[in-house]
Amino acid sequence: MYKIIEAPNSGKYPFSHSLIVGKSCIIDTGAGEKLASLRFDYVLNTHWHEDHIAMNRIGRKVLAHPLDAEAIESYEEFRERYGLGDLAKMFINFEFGSVYDVFEDEDELEFDGVGVEVLHTPGHSAGHCCFVVNDEAIFLGDIDLTSFGPWYGCLDCDVRDFAASVKRLMKEVESRDINLAIPSHGNPVYGKENIIEALQKYLNKFCERDKKIKELAKSGVDPVGKGVVYRKLPEPREIYLHFEKIMVEKHLTTSLDKFCQG
Ligand SMILES: [Zn+2]
Repeated sequence: MYKIIEAPNSGKYPFSHSLIVGKSCIIDTGAGEKLASLRFDYVLNTHWHEDHIAMNRIGRKVLAHPLDAEAIESYEEFRERYGLGDLAKMFINFEFGSVYDVFEDEDELEFDGVGVEVLHTPGHSAGHCCFVVNDEAIFLGDIDLTSFGPWYGCLDCDVRDFAASVKRLMKEVESRDINLAIPSHGNPVYGKENIIEALQKYLNKFCERDKKIKELAKSGVDPVGKGVVYRKLPEPREIYLHFEKIMVEKHLTTSLDKFCQG
């Protein structure tokens, strides 16, 4: 009815897990060579990042949220959103392809008798979506529950929207019989209570960073490169410094009090 295709290296970047729905549909196409010989009528993309769209060519029709469709289709828009100029070229080893149709929040799709409900969960990207499959599993995309925490280093990211999306997911899981959460990276989480707990932990990450970043700024220290987001900046340093700068800037221009008090 649905099946996880586990990406190499527990789905660490540049890979991400996929989920086959029914026979004719797959969610995201970053699971590496395992996907190369497969073919689907439909690809649903959680969002526009390269590690989720790399093999979109295995699907005849690609569907995405309208706010992300253009960045899935064109390098120009993809490059814009990274804000890195043509350094963004190093992220891609595929051809961009067209998006056949779009879906919106609360759309209910069906593939071979398996229901897929769309939850628009912006923040990680403007058009990021999660999918509730068969009323019992949720594909979380890059609300990925990793210990690193949430990532919002692109120009179309929004830290407040991201926190609100996590909060919404907690409510959605609470109010339904969802007992499996599948993040794009890392391990699936089983059991409603465990999923809610993992989402709360993930939400707390925003608050921990927010507090540290604002304290540093208040004492006159530039919070960028101080280990608040990336404990140690990976290579190429220049690129991760850019991401961290954007993430820090988003904290400094946003209030997260609504999510972080108490
Ligand atoms: Zn992403």
